[in-house]
Amino acid sequence: MSDSAAMLCRDCRFVLDLGYFWNTQEPREIFTGGGPARGDQDIDGALWRFLADHVYHRVRLLGEQSEDWSVIDVDYTRIGTQYPATVTPAEYAEGWRGRALAAQPRPLCDTVRALIRSSETEVSGPGVTISQQQEAAVESLYEELPCAESPAREVDRAELGVRLAAVERSVALVRRVSESLAGHPLEILLRESSAVIAEALEQDRPGLLTDWNGLASPALFDAERALILLKDTLGGYAG
Ligand SMILES: [Zn+2]
Repeated sequence: MSDSAAMLCRDCRFVLDLGYFWNTQEPREIFTGGGPARGDQDIDGALWRFLADHVYHRVRLLGEQSEDWSVIDVDYTRIGTQYPATVTPAEYAEGWRGRALAAQPRPLCDTVRALIRSSETEVSGPGVTISQQQEAAVESLYEELPCAESPAREVDRAELGVRLAAVERSVALVRRVSESLAGHPLEILLRESSAVIAEALEQDRPGLLTDWNGLASPALFDAERALILLKDTLGGYAG
């Protein structure tokens, strides 16, 4: 049986996919799609880049059975060649432009993630049911929430306006759908998440429309990623 191996930085929420290994093989060796990982120049370059970037951080080497594997969610920046990787090992090794933005703190994501965790406990509680109508509302919300932008994407003022408008539309939609979920634990998750994102957007509108070294501002990126966390959670209900 094979397991995947990866390097994780908990501080920056970065994951470098290293490849896979056979559980029973001795001595153990990690392979990529093209053969042994130790002969893969892209993985080699990305690994050394990763070690240099994350000195002093909480870095761990993980196998799929490691406890920390379960903390990896869609908000983590994935370096790899498999979907849903954000950046390839070769791009990362060359000093990927999105690294600084992707490593910024994301307080909204932290809040929404905590709300998701508590809703998961509620959802598995006794007697929780979802009507067909509610399920349809969740499914359409899942379809309508946009996918994540790359943190390396260069922006101008016009594009920032478009992205902020998309976030605001999504937040309004999340709030509307929460109203149709009365009695279901997702109602609380969607209502509280939309409220906390809306409040953050109100706080510094000019800042959200100002670029950050040619990239989206950390606050806008945080709001977009918080919505991605919600989308991913809804995917579990949308079937
Ligand atoms: Zn780090």
